[in-house]
Amino acid sequence: MTSSADSAVLADFLAATLAGRRPVHDDANAGACANGAVRWQWQDEGVLLLEPVHGDADKDAPARSVLISAGVHGDETAPIELLSQMVADIAAGRLPLACRLLVVLGNAAAMRAATRYEDDDLNRLFGGRHARVPQSREAPRAIALEQAAQRFFEATPAAGTRWHLDLHTAIRASAFEQFALLPYTGGAPARAMFDWLADARIAAVLIHTEKGATYSSFTADACGATACTLELGKVRPFGQNDLARFAHADAAIRRLVSGAHADADAPMPRVFTVIGQITKQSDALQLHVAADVANFTPFARGTVLAEDGAYRYVVAHDEERIVFPNPSVKPGLRAGLLVVETTGATLAALV
Ligand SMILES: [Zn+2]
Repeated sequence: MTSSADSAVLADFLAATLAGRRPVHDDANAGACANGAVRWQWQDEGVLLLEPVHGDADKDAPARSVLISAGVHGDETAPIELLSQMVADIAAGRLPLACRLLVVLGNAAAMRAATRYEDDDLNRLFGGRHARVPQSREAPRAIALEQAAQRFFEATPAAGTRWHLDLHTAIRASAFEQFALLPYTGGAPARAMFDWLADARIAAVLIHTEKGATYSSFTADACGATACTLELGKVRPFGQNDLARFAHADAAIRRLVSGAHADADAPMPRVFTVIGQITKQSDALQLHVAADVANFTPFARGTVLAEDGAYRYVVAHDEERIVFPNPSVKPGLRAGLLVVETTGATLAALV
C-alpha cells in the first residue's frame, strides 16, 4: 500500500518537487495508487512513471507510451500546475490511466528559483548539446532527462505508439495564443498528432525544417516519438494562472492518457513552415520590429526586418511571419524565425 509520505508526493507532485521531497518508505521509490489500478515509480527529481497494473488484457493493453513534460523552462508555471493536478487525479483514481505515462517536471532548480533557467536554456541543450557546456548547472539535467526519455520509450511494447508533449508558455503575445512546434523529422507530420492538436483547440502549428536542440526534438529523433512542443499562453508566477484558459489543452491531454475519444469535429490548426531565420552577426544587430511584437505577426514582401553590418534580412515571400524574435541572444545564434503558411499542403500530406 501507499504510505502517507508517498501519498503526499503523488497528491501534490509540484509541491513535493519544489520542496525536494521524495518518497521515503522503501528503496524502490515505487508503489501502487488509484486503489491499486496504477503502479508508480519515482525515478528522479521531477520524474515520475505511472503505469496501469492490468496492462496486458488485450483491449486494455497500454498501446501508448506518453511522456508529458513541463517546466523545462522553470518559470512557465501553468502547465506545471496542470500536470501536477493530473498526477493527483490519476493517483486518486479520478482519472483513469490507459497508457504508460512518464511525467517530467524539467528544470526543478529553476522552478524553485522562479526563473527560466540558471546558467543555460535547458531547451537548447538536448541531443548532446549539453556536452558543449559541461560546467552549466543545466548540463546534468539535460543528460538525466534524455536518459529518462530513452529508458521510458525503450520499454514501449512492440505495437505501442510513442508520444511526447512538452508543455510551455511563451514570453510574448502571439497572434495565435496557443500553438505547437513540431520538430524536424525528415518525414510528413503524423495525422494522429494533428487530430490531437485539433482536439486541444491549438490554433496554429509551426513545423521546423532543421533539427533542433529541444526536448521534443530529442524524443522525436532519438526515441521515435510523435512529439511536439506546446506554447499555451503567457508566463505568470505560480498560483496566478487562470487555468481556465488552458481547459481545452488540459482536457485533450486527459483524453490522451485515459484513452477517451477526441472531438472529431474540432477544426484543424493552421500550419506554418519555417523558411528562414534572422541570425545575430554582432551586437550591432538591429531588429526593425517592435520590442513586444506578437509571435506570428505578418510582414509583406520587401520589408527589411533586420540589419547587422552588411547583413540584412528582407522578406522574400508575399508574406512572412516572425516567431520568437529575440535580439539579445549571443552573436551567432538565432534572433528570430520566419515562417510562411502551408496549411493546405501540410494537411493534405499527413501520414
Ligand atoms: Zn518554454
